[in-house]
Amino acid sequence: MAAGISVLRTGANIFNLPDFHQEPLKPHFFLQPHYKLNDNELLKYSRQIMLPEIDIAGQEKLLSSSALLIGLGGLGSPVAMYLAAAGIGKLTLVDFDSVDLSNLQRQIIHNHVSIGQLKVDSARQTLLQLNKDCTIETVSELLKDDELGELINSHDITIDATDNFATRDLINRQCVKHRKPLVSGAAIRWDGHVTTFSNQDDSPCYHCLYGSDADSEDESCTENGVLAPVVGIIGSIQATETIKQLTGAGTTLEGRLLILDGIEMTFKTLKINKDPECKVCGNL
Ligand SMILES: [Zn+2]
Repeated sequence: MAAGISVLRTGANIFNLPDFHQEPLKPHFFLQPHYKLNDNELLKYSRQIMLPEIDIAGQEKLLSSSALLIGLGGLGSPVAMYLAAAGIGKLTLVDFDSVDLSNLQRQIIHNHVSIGQLKVDSARQTLLQLNKDCTIETVSELLKDDELGELINSHDITIDATDNFATRDLINRQCVKHRKPLVSGAAIRWDGHVTTFSNQDDSPCYHCLYGSDADSEDESCTENGVLAPVVGIIGSIQATETIKQLTGAGTTLEGRLLILDGIEMTFKTLKINKDPECKVCGNL
């Protein structure tokens, strides 16, 4: 689960959609706000509250929301930092890895002082410096399936910032089981993928997109390399998707896969179809 190490595959259940005219799906997931901003918070989040799609109601939703972030590497770093700074109420960090010198090129939540520390502890320190009012919880043990499911079910949204298909598949299965939204990102070399699965109604899931890759070997950044800002771009989009899903602002990437080609600097959108035979969500 060492983050920043991500995997990209092409799935069979997508097709290029250069002329994407279909009305994208609106987020299904809305929280009932039970948070009232104080004067200090009105000032702190004023630039975000100015946005009509967020406004005071959206900021209060964000402050009353919880997110589960799995992986505190290259993708997880910007996700965690932007969500904490933007005012999410609670962030639970999951990673059992420790900070290594070779991580620092892209895992910007960590620093030289934190080498050797658990990534969740290093990340927590950075996040509380960014926003002391954010509740940060940490999990550094390897979780069993049902333990992960309980954790997913007790949060409003899950962000997958991990580096291998086995873990991604497990996270997806638990999110589908508990019908919880999942924001998924991956990056390697100059390339990135990012999308959001609401896991509601007849929406596609991660398995619909990528199928079963259990027998395939993962590509990793350890072997293939990755440009530091590429994970930053994809992680920042994951944070944006999370805020939109939690507040109901705008249109998320649900049903669409956004693909970054960083060497040519182009973005492409592919439509994701639900697989009626999907082994994970097909019977829902
Ligand atoms: Zn599926």
